Amino acid sequence: MQITDTLTASRRELLPPVGEDGVVRMYVCGITPYSEAHVGHALHAIVFDVLRRYLDWRGIPVKHVQNFTDIDDKLIERSQRLGISMAELADRNIAEYLDQLRAMNVLPAHAYPRVTETLPQIIRFIAGLIEKGYAYAAGGDVYYRVRAFGAERYGALSKRNIDDLRAGARVDPTEHKEDPLDFALWKGAKPGEPSWESPWGPGRPGWHIECSAMALDTLGEQIDIHGGGMDLIFPHHTNEIAQTEAYTGKAPFARIWMHNALLQLGSEKMSKSIGNLVSIREALEQYGADALRMFVITSHYRSPVTYSEEALEAARAGAERLRTAAFAKGGEGDAGIDAEGVRARFIEAMDDDLNTPRALAALFELAREINRAAAAGKSVEAAQAVLRELCGVLGLTLAAPAKRVRGAEPFIDLLVEVRSELRAAKQWALADRVRDRLLELGIELKDSPDGTSWSEK
Ligand code: ZN
Repeated sequence: MQITDTLTASRRELLPPVGEDGVVRMYVCGITPYSEAHVGHALHAIVFDVLRRYLDWRGIPVKHVQNFTDIDDKLIERSQRLGISMAELADRNIAEYLDQLRAMNVLPAHAYPRVTETLPQIIRFIAGLIEKGYAYAAGGDVYYRVRAFGAERYGALSKRNIDDLRAGARVDPTEHKEDPLDFALWKGAKPGEPSWESPWGPGRPGWHIECSAMALDTLGEQIDIHGGGMDLIFPHHTNEIAQTEAYTGKAPFARIWMHNALLQLGSEKMSKSIGNLVSIREALEQYGADALRMFVITSHYRSPVTYSEEALEAARAGAERLRTAAFAKGGEGDAGIDAEGVRARFIEAMDDDLNTPRALAALFELAREINRAAAAGKSVEAAQAVLRELCGVLGLTLAAPAKRVRGAEPFIDLLVEVRSELRAAKQWALADRVRDRLLELGIELKDSPDGTSWSEK
């Protein structure tokens, strides 16, 4: 299987993995849980879930680690505004995000390290960098010495010129850097902020060091895939490379740097700075998991996608087409559908830099053939089994759309009418039974002087 590697700007063969145990080690940068997760986070989670499901299905074991940045400026600021602790705010948003991952049929990572639980490893890592001359303590902070790592190597991932970077770097007078390019590994405590003890005084880790320490701690010195959004290439992943390769003395830290394009909302990138963003919760309520997944995999992970109602409706319709074909009733006699040919094309597409649009095209073709054969009264079960299996690899549940009463309206009206007549005849027990059973089915009745109305719960 080939995947595009940002560092070498080329396709690289994923297999065999770097570890002797044959396990693909995959580290994906996670979220900073300071507010509700949005659809951009869903895209990122689904892309790496599809990769993981595909490798699992091909019999290649994956160890997937995804962090939570639970020490952060925005978390501190918002928790203070809400009058709760940073830990409480993070816990609340992490629990919600994990629920949403489940609802999107995203497999849980094998480990979800948090900064607050990784401080000893982070401190050890920073101390090691100081010892090797790659970092220095200054005024309660600790900084990474970019020059020691080498200009060319430092700019390799982002393809940026180090002099341009240096010219563009902001110099904060409260910092004590040797060079504007240096970045903080440890920040000395500021009044009123949560802090932890360290050999350099109380403070907290800078952002980038956590991922280096966590990847080392959970996956080892070298990993197969390091994933994240394209917005993380600089400075986050650039700094991760500098930290880890300096600390371990081994390169490359990650054999493949895999970056997904960002979600666009209208013409803008969907980030927290946009007011009208869509939360995962809202998207799930409105469209359901399969539509959301279908929306993501309809595009290649390296092409930007734009969130719109039309796109989500189209994705929902696409998922419904696959579902209908997967469960269509056939007849007798072999339809002669080449489902194994579809399976081979699916694999070929997925091996080609996770080309989900092409893999999906093969599935839609299979669905069409199944529908045609079923309509002709032929047996379609064998082809349906393959279709369901391959949909499962993409994480599509093929579940019927959530409780919807489409088409049931006249029958509900009829039951409401019968119940009203039962009430008029003082048949209370029976009338209540109709009401209670409807409620169990998600239909709520409201009695008023004007009569009875019903609504979906
Ligand atoms: Zn990271």
